[in-house]
Amino acid sequence: MAEVVLLGAGLGGVVAAYELKDQLRGKDRLTVVNKGDTYHFVPSNPWVAVGWRTRKAIEVKLAPAMHRRGIDFIGTPAKRVHPTENRVELEDGRSVAYDYLVIATGPDLAFDEIDGLGPDANTQSICHVDHAEKARAAFEVFCRRPGPIVVGAVQGASCFGPAYEFAMILDTELRRRRLRDQAPMTFVTSEPYIGHLGLDGVGDTKGLLESEMRNRHIKWITNARLVKVEPGKVIAEELNEDASIKSTHELPFAYSMMLPAFRGVEAVRGIEQLTNPRGFIVIDKNQRNPTFRNVFGIGVGVAIAPVGKTPVPVGVPKTGFMIESMVTATAKNIGALLRGKPADSVAAWNAVCLADFGDGGVAFVAEPQIPPRNVNWSAKGKWVHSAKEMFEGYFLGKVRRGQGVPFMERFALHALGIEKLKAKGGKAR
Ligand SMILES: Cc1cc2nc3c(=O)[nH]c(=O)nc-3n(C[C@H](O)[C@H](O)[C@H](O)COP(=O)(O)OP(=O)(O)OC[C@H]3O[C@@H](n4cnc5c(N)ncnc54)[C@H](O)[C@@H]3O)c2cc1C
Repeated sequence: MAEVVLLGAGLGGVVAAYELKDQLRGKDRLTVVNKGDTYHFVPSNPWVAVGWRTRKAIEVKLAPAMHRRGIDFIGTPAKRVHPTENRVELEDGRSVAYDYLVIATGPDLAFDEIDGLGPDANTQSICHVDHAEKARAAFEVFCRRPGPIVVGAVQGASCFGPAYEFAMILDTELRRRRLRDQAPMTFVTSEPYIGHLGLDGVGDTKGLLESEMRNRHIKWITNARLVKVEPGKVIAEELNEDASIKSTHELPFAYSMMLPAFRGVEAVRGIEQLTNPRGFIVIDKNQRNPTFRNVFGIGVGVAIAPVGKTPVPVGVPKTGFMIESMVTATAKNIGALLRGKPADSVAAWNAVCLADFGDGGVAFVAEPQIPPRNVNWSAKGKWVHSAKEMFEGYFLGKVRRGQGVPFMERFALHALGIEKLKAKGGKAR
């Protein structure tokens, strides 16, 4: 009998729980340890922030869903992982021992790296549903006294899609309220160009997003490094190609949402050989830590090198579908090890993304996520908004039912030629 422990039940962890359960032998035990007892669908946070969704609509209680699948659940955060002792220490002093550990703890939000950044200081956030609710309250106050808006992503950020989404969603909602004419908007980003997305673009995301922003009268500043945020004022330096300062901008705002840089969570940060200097889990192509071979990493919390050098540091996004491919590879690899077989499944790391703008959106497929690619496609249209709503309902349904990858989903993806695992020899299978 083996003890498998999964740390973190967010987008990656919750799917991993169900897929891992399917891979275990009869007597093996799976325990999920999460910070809190509720799952939130993070991609819907921008909708919560403008009142298009309630918190309740995007939440799932984890314990009943896990118990229905025969998975033990602990809603207490890990304080520290002790990989040399094969145990996880919990905040309440308990310890959970493991034979295999999967770390899916997502990002720690590094607001503290910029003076005045974040929901406890001067800007809003949509990274967590708590923040999105706070952003919603601030948005209602803003609508009573509209003024300039600054939205974007700071230096070292790796998640750019939601910043674009939120700028466009704000634009859509303000037009519906007939307030857009009183709210000039500036998009401030560390990306070297609009639509880079931490991926050096996908298809024509540069052209598509620039045109969308021009149509919506959203100005932009790229290669931006935030110096600080004062109450009602973002101070940002715009850099040249050689990283010298081109100009310093002082941008007044009545409402601002800036995505922070991510780093690994405290429970794993600073553990030699397990994490890199930013606290991300170091993994090999099989999602396995090269030193602690019984530890696997999935999701936003794993280390991936940037796609190339940029004047302002820009990270690589770990998008939902890419994370699901990490999950499938990890579950299969642990299943194989339990049966004495080699752990040779490799995640395809394909990105299939729907960026919603409230009244339309941009979709892209990057296979693999890191260039050069076999598939490099993007398109825009009204259908993207509906597709994202459908996906939200489908995903939350899967989480409530305790399903990993239903046959229907596997069939549909296969028909589209989008695979989660790489075949040996490099091709997707
Ligand atoms: C606002 C926003 C919108 C996004 N929209 C999209 C989108 O539309 N499409 C897309 O493909 N990607 C999107 N992403 C990117 C990505 O899919 C999400 O960030 C996704 O939630 C990441 O999944 P994860 O499992 O790695 O981390 P998370 O979903 O953040 O889950 C981490 C889990 O670990 C838990 N945890 C943290 N610390 C501990 C601890 N010490 N002990 C135990 N548990 C712990 C947390 O409570 C949480 O449950 C978005 C990201 C953001 C921020």
